Amino acid sequence: MPKYCHMCGRAMEGEGDICEACQEIIRAEALGRQRKVAKEAQKELEKLSVREKKGPAVKRSVLSPKEEKNKKPHHFKSMAEYLRYLREKEK
Ligand SMILES: [Zn+2]
Repeated sequence: MPKYCHMCGRAMEGEGDICEACQEIIRAEALGRQRKVAKEAQKELEKLSVREKKGPAVKRSVLSPKEEKNKKPHHFKSMAEYLRYLREKEK
């Protein structure tokens, strides 16, 4: 019993529901999609990193975990920020 490709309808041999030509097309489309997804993810990351640069997050990331738990006023741009940090620590 001859098999026909589910995509293009041509007679085909071998395993699967679609012929090799259609498999190639599907593979290429999947790759294209992946590339697009990666691009979108990259855009999101860039957006996030831009946001981080604005806040104190960048400063914090430079500190070691030990320093992170025991920050001093000079780690902050202002005393108000330091006080906010102390309040966060008490939570
Ligand atoms: Zn086909």
